Amino acid sequence: MLHITIWNEFLHERTNPAVQAIYPDGIHIALRDALATNLGDAAQLTCATLQEPEHGLTSERLASTDVLLWWGHAEHERVADEVVERVQRRVLEGMGLIVLHSGHGSKIFRRLMGTSCMLRWREAAERERLWITLPGHPILRGIEGDFIELPSTEMYGEHFDIPPPDELLLISWFEGGEVFRSGCTFQRGQGKIFYFRPGHETYPIYYHPQVQRIISNAVLWAKPELGNFHFDARHVPDPLSPIA
Ligand code: ZN
Repeated sequence: MLHITIWNEFLHERTNPAVQAIYPDGIHIALRDALATNLGDAAQLTCATLQEPEHGLTSERLASTDVLLWWGHAEHERVADEVVERVQRRVLEGMGLIVLHSGHGSKIFRRLMGTSCMLRWREAAERERLWITLPGHPILRGIEGDFIELPSTEMYGEHFDIPPPDELLLISWFEGGEVFRSGCTFQRGQGKIFYFRPGHETYPIYYHPQVQRIISNAVLWAKPELGNFHFDARHVPDPLSPIA
């Protein structure tokens, strides 16, 4: 059984009627439903939001989470540092992390990357093509063709201030001319991280079947293969064999 926690800041859906119309129960519920459909009984799905005590990310919850999904936008700074440290520790132990769209600016992503993770953006409802640059990668399983096309999106453009990703799966082209590294993998400690760009709150992007497929594949890819890894850092005064 794969234990998945979907974290959402859950602000725009409660305060902006346009977003409410698209995601009446919240982005986390749309993601949960998509993962339930694609992963079936193999996955146990729970949600957590910023408003809950400890943002719903208690030590117990994180200890039993195999993969954490993260969507945040306007309230990154309200996420408690203590919780960020807890999530980082779990990633280093092997918990997978999927960072979605504006999650690029979250404290946890910036902490794990060590850079500003900032970029250029524009909201002009333009066309986006996500070109596949690493066909055959497990995160792209079942995606047909050379690219995914989204008819109406927010633009994210380079430069995206991240360290060079371990793998670059998708490069976006936008109608307005910019390009962006939209699907990137990283490893930190034992944990696998996937950054996936699509998902602005005023577009129904998380209902797009190929976007849902990629997020579902990413969860399977990011799960810890060998369980949790616990550090055993210590001073070893006695050598294993004599030192000449
Ligand atoms: Zn956005």
